[in-house]
Amino acid sequence: MHDDHNTQENIQAPGDPTPSAESQARIQEFLESSGAPMTESDGAVDWHEEVLPEGHKSGFVALIGRPNVGKSTLVNSMIGEKISIVSHKPQTTRTRIFGILTQPTHQIIFVDTPGIHKKPKHKLNRKMIEEAIAAIPDADAILFVVDVSVPPREEDELIARMLKQKAGRAPIFFVLNKMDKLPLEKAKQHVEAYWALLPHYADSMPVSALRGTNVEKLLGSLVEPLPEGPRYYPGDQVTDQTERQIAAELIREAILRYTHQEIPHAAAILVEDLAERANGTTYIAARIWVERDSQKPILIGKQGQMLKKIGAAARKELERFIGGKVYLDLLVKVQSKWRDQDARLRELGFK
Ligand code: GDP
Ligand code: MG
Repeated sequence: MHDDHNTQENIQAPGDPTPSAESQARIQEFLESSGAPMTESDGAVDWHEEVLPEGHKSGFVALIGRPNVGKSTLVNSMIGEKISIVSHKPQTTRTRIFGILTQPTHQIIFVDTPGIHKKPKHKLNRKMIEEAIAAIPDADAILFVVDVSVPPREEDELIARMLKQKAGRAPIFFVLNKMDKLPLEKAKQHVEAYWALLPHYADSMPVSALRGTNVEKLLGSLVEPLPEGPRYYPGDQVTDQTERQIAAELIREAILRYTHQEIPHAAAILVEDLAERANGTTYIAARIWVERDSQKPILIGKQGQMLKKIGAAARKELERFIGGKVYLDLLVKVQSKWRDQDARLRELGFK
């Protein structure tokens, strides 16, 4: 994804505001391949012509861990904005998502990944795991996120083995999350068991992603190992996702909150329209796919009560995200076996 971003010619010489054509082309290529929304020139200084301080650093930091350990919560906490949805249900994050943190001296691109777990049942799950694994060799640093409130599981061992094989020279930071959940004495036993999984790590940090404890400290220690490099994204951009993708995720988050059992996993969202109307209201039309006829009435509820509840919760989040009034039009559609059909998965943005 960014094979040569830290090669010499990509580093902008201090005092030289014009990056080489080659370097610009590479940035363009990178942005296009990552699906980042293009910035339009509005006559102001182009963002990659900004003069950066000498020794400016940048890089990709991948968050790897089993489902539900708090990877997305941690990315949101580090970015300071909600760019990745969170729920207590496993496998909430389905694709890799960039969270971009820009500071005067560095830019860190966090790669939030779906959790790595055993025995994927559907093509969707296999693609989710592939996305997570693909992020490892490309990363400049890796956050191995674990849940210290419980002892290591088989999946943590599996991930540790995978990191040993694939991480190359990228430093690995052990992130011991959910420290707020148990007394220190108890945590210590678990921490030692986690450490035993991976003999070589750059640093380990107890954190609470939920409360923000030690998150700044973790951020501080991440900058050092990053290579010198340019800004890959404009300073005010916090994610690589498009508005439509974020809208779809916020709707899915509301579904995860209110539905149970197979429904959260069977649902996918396709945003078909997102447009600001003349009166300033943003109109969003989305389809919710479910897999079976029997799931449709559950999602809609008696007299549409469930869908109303989901719509109201999603609208609230969408209005916060868009910063204005939203009219949300939700339609439930049965799309059988979408989790195993390549064409459907492509429509949802999987490669
Ligand atoms: P992911 O699957 O690894 O991305 O995990 P999420 O970020 O979706 O979080 C899974 C669940 O763990 C959610 O219910 C979070 O609120 C919760 N969680 C995340 N971080 C913490 C933490 O530091 N402390 C506690 N107590 N809960 C957390
Ligand atoms: Mg997640």
